[in-house]
Amino acid sequence: MPNTKFRPADRVINNPPYAFAAIGNEVRAIMVKGADVIRLDIGSPDMPPAPHIIETLVEQSQASNTHGYAGYAGIPTLRSAITDYYQRRFGVTLDPDKEVLPLIGSKEGLVNMHLAWLNPGDVALAPDPGYGAYNVGPQIVGSVVETLLLRPENNWLPDFSAISPEILEKAKMMWLNYPNNPTGAVADLAFFEEAVAFCRANDILLCHDNPYGEITFDGYQSVSPLQVSGAKEVVIEFNSFSKTYNMAGWRVGMAIGSATAVEALSKIKTQFDSGFALPIQRMAIAALTGDQGWLIERNQVYQRRRDLVIATLADLGIMVPVPLATLYVWFPVPAGYTDVDFHRKLLHEAHVSIAPGSIFGEGGRNWMRLSISTASTRLEEALARLREVMGETD
Ligand code: PLP
Repeated sequence: MPNTKFRPADRVINNPPYAFAAIGNEVRAIMVKGADVIRLDIGSPDMPPAPHIIETLVEQSQASNTHGYAGYAGIPTLRSAITDYYQRRFGVTLDPDKEVLPLIGSKEGLVNMHLAWLNPGDVALAPDPGYGAYNVGPQIVGSVVETLLLRPENNWLPDFSAISPEILEKAKMMWLNYPNNPTGAVADLAFFEEAVAFCRANDILLCHDNPYGEITFDGYQSVSPLQVSGAKEVVIEFNSFSKTYNMAGWRVGMAIGSATAVEALSKIKTQFDSGFALPIQRMAIAALTGDQGWLIERNQVYQRRRDLVIATLADLGIMVPVPLATLYVWFPVPAGYTDVDFHRKLLHEAHVSIAPGSIFGEGGRNWMRLSISTASTRLEEALARLREVMGETD
């Protein structure tokens, strides 16, 4: 067979493999040789959702009439449970028919938003370091990513004044994500006021990715850019049940805000998917409307793990600010290593996998992201191995 056209599209060939899939392959390669690898690289909650959430799923999946297509925009009760949550939590009033769209996990919404908003050649502004979807989406569409460099000296917040007028002219959307993956940084309302004013002045859709807003510690309460007066004109926020309710595998997310952006996203999604199962929608409603008390205890577990990681790193001479939110402790690599070398060393010598920061972009080079979403006993074991390996090198 001639081999000139029988091959995948350039967007597949030019796309590097998803970073965590590549790490997963490396981990599996040493696990098949018998190594007991502890993965602290991925942010998938290890604890289950509360019992009332699972009970709803079980009941609903046993009913005879819950197995058909369940609508492109989710059922109205799910949309109003989402708007009630935004009212209660942020004081933001939303129209459940025009300003809310349930998603099959927020990741598909992040990528599809590029299809819904960008033409080839348009610019998307994306943080570096940052979550991969902000780069993959524009690549799929044939548009251009311009990076917003996040620096530790600016508390991992972007400097909007550093964006050139030429880039601003072409920029149609901008991604922000606080509480931030991978840095664990948080933003206050004053920052979001600045961001909203900047996007409004430059005709840019502000896409705020907010899956970690409820994973908070030390009494910290996260904020949303939708709290800024008039924000709904230029902001769409992506939120998720994955981390908030320990439901990562069930794939439930939401887009909230600008009716124009929500409608555009909805139009694209109507072509790509057919919504998600009714039992899962009802499970999501149970999560939002049921008892929220268990989240406090869940966050206390994460907080104890965070403190243990910070204390271990301090003993090893690595001092980092204590994150007020997210599942991540972000720390600089010890002198003498690159982040990739350090990942490899810990994987092979300690059988512990901690994500190298450069998988989140150049701005993450020589930083590491350690996830606290692993059972406490396994985390303790991993930290003990870290002490042993690092002790040997000191
Ligand atoms: N955005 C960020 C910053 C994330 O870290 C993640 C998952 O880790 C997602 C989006 C995707 O979450 P979901 O499970 O809702 O697709």
